[in-house]
Amino acid sequence: MKILLTAPPGMGKSTILEKVVRGFDGKHYGIVAREVLDESGKRIGFTSINPSGQSQQFMFYTESPSAESIGGQFDVDIKAIDDFVVPELKKGMTDSSALIFVDEIGRAQAKSPLFLQTLRQIFAAKCNVLGSIVYEDEPWSLEFKRDANVCLLEVNRRNRDFLPGILLAAFCNRSLFEMMNIEQQQQSMRFLHERIQNEEFNAAQKIFRNAIPYVVEKRIELVEEGAESRVYHIVGRTSGHRLECDVEAGEFRCDCDLSNGRGSYAGKAEICSHQMAVRLYELGLAARLV
Ligand SMILES: [Zn+2]
Repeated sequence: MKILLTAPPGMGKSTILEKVVRGFDGKHYGIVAREVLDESGKRIGFTSINPSGQSQQFMFYTESPSAESIGGQFDVDIKAIDDFVVPELKKGMTDSSALIFVDEIGRAQAKSPLFLQTLRQIFAAKCNVLGSIVYEDEPWSLEFKRDANVCLLEVNRRNRDFLPGILLAAFCNRSLFEMMNIEQQQQSMRFLHERIQNEEFNAAQKIFRNAIPYVVEKRIELVEEGAESRVYHIVGRTSGHRLECDVEAGEFRCDCDLSNGRGSYAGKAEICSHQMAVRLYELGLAARLV
């Protein structure tokens, strides 16, 4: 599972990433980036910190910037990135149940060809990644942002308090996620992206806490199949649900409270885990028929 956060500076990406790393239930490897301030509080650079607390400064304030300087005031020590950041990222590559966190994937890091090559290897490998990436669509960043297996989430003031819980639900259910086929995994990531965009934060958590378990634990049963509709029964966490799919319109109707905005979700209807589960289940069936 690979998730990238993006936002203009100061939106709280690093805070979200730290909360997820702290709550993660497995091994984690990676790097966080921190400002370096002088005694007067002036920013004089950035440093990378690994999970053991060791650090290595990789950006330095310069009085005489060159065309290569970042933001017209910081020089990058590419060797520090290659010798300190890259090995930390590689440590997690062979552990498919671990989390690799990369804060951040920015202009400074992109100056290192070795960093970008390592990132490509990590993105191609079967490992779990949570990173923050530059907000602007810089050409080098697009291959990561547009990777079909990556969910790119834009952090804003409305979603940033919800994201740690949602991302923890995602990464802590990674073993169930891995049990689905690639189309189902990619659809789950599209569900996550849509839910965050639509600010359906209950539903976003339920993708991982409910919908994916329903699929993997075979809690979905097709009970009626006609030319115009299919009816499913889903054994939910607390009760069973009936979900009808209108074949032609591609629409779903579920009897649960969340999709109807009733009960504890009064006035706050969101797409329900049952509908998402059935859509993932049908993708699984389609794959088996090929
Ligand atoms: Zn439902």
